[in-house]
Amino acid sequence: MVMESESKLDTELSDEFLRRMVAWQRLEDTLRNGNQVVDLKLLEIEPGEEDNFPDRESVKNWLEDHIARTPPNSAGVKHAQRCDGLLAFSEAVLGKRESLGVYLSRTLGVTPAAIPDSEIREQRDRVVGLFSNLGFAFNEAGWRRYQEAEPPTREKTKAAVLDAEQRVIPIVLETINRSDLPLDFDTRVVRRNRPWISRIIGGPDRFSHEINFHPRNRFRYFMGLEEPLEAHELVYHLVQALCLRENIRSGVLSRDYAITTIPGIEQMPNESMAQAMPFFVPEILERMSPYGRFALEYGVLRDMVLNRNALIFANADGYSDEWIKAYTLDYLPGQPPEKIVSEFIPLRRDDPRYRSYYYSYSGSHELRKEAEDMTDEQRRRVITYAYNHQPGYSELASFIEQQKTA
Ligand SMILES: [Zn+2]
Repeated sequence: MVMESESKLDTELSDEFLRRMVAWQRLEDTLRNGNQVVDLKLLEIEPGEEDNFPDRESVKNWLEDHIARTPPNSAGVKHAQRCDGLLAFSEAVLGKRESLGVYLSRTLGVTPAAIPDSEIREQRDRVVGLFSNLGFAFNEAGWRRYQEAEPPTREKTKAAVLDAEQRVIPIVLETINRSDLPLDFDTRVVRRNRPWISRIIGGPDRFSHEINFHPRNRFRYFMGLEEPLEAHELVYHLVQALCLRENIRSGVLSRDYAITTIPGIEQMPNESMAQAMPFFVPEILERMSPYGRFALEYGVLRDMVLNRNALIFANADGYSDEWIKAYTLDYLPGQPPEKIVSEFIPLRRDDPRYRSYYYSYSGSHELRKEAEDMTDEQRRRVITYAYNHQPGYSELASFIEQQKTA
């Protein structure tokens, strides 16, 4: 495969950056408020005593100083952009409330844009059609019946994990010509009082795939969800992590990529690709059950509605919490109404992490449209690129554009 070598940041500066980000995570861990900075850590990175931060203010100061010390063209634009995003995040955890447009462009490296209502409605119609084929009405009562029809179980989730591991991931590894990568991960069912339902952590030795069955997230599980969920988590995130770790070890990618951060400019292409994965690999789509197919399309709709809601929050005038609740329920009847006000709105409006986190999924419908327009070979090239690099969203978009015109 073709892999141009990335422009490298001065190694010392880069290693200091990695140690400091891990030290920042340690500081957040001692504050015990669940704030997460480092997402994936792909190499063994051990901060020394001198790397420790006494408080968040010193993190912000270090980032400002680091940006000032980074030679403007040594690491490409990306490192500076990445650090500015982390600086915006560190300012937000200290209480600064930047406008959402500025915050998203700094943390995710994108200019936020509203998805046209007509496209959201079109996706809603698709979802309603699939849901009624399953015998359910797309409203709160219909959703409740659907959720009660067959509640999620650990057994079903584990079966989906096994299927991804034994059947789907090998297909994808072969597609991208990386069948040599060992699938060194474990799956654990956990109960953590956090808003996520699954994640990949770890990295240097092994990865852990955690599935969160905490009761607070029960509403997010429904029949068929495990199919797109495992395509997202294992087929995309795990394989992406394996590829990156290998590329850093073999020197194809700079060590600078050994951590991914939340928020970070790599987050939007990664989350949006993970959501759109089945559209890029026809074998995944073809073997989905009607329930899995519904869950996949509902996920795309959810990403679109979250995009729309995020931008409503940015221009909050005239949109009451009640309006947002009614709008959300019209498109996503599976959202418990009380949670929209108590959790959904505050996290997305005020929380430094979740403010950008959910926007980062909103590229999934664009990527899905692109995938549907491409040949198998073009799709293969796009996923190979996304898995092996840490592109920003605009880099991924221009790579796709190139493939279409090549
Ligand atoms: Zn994800």
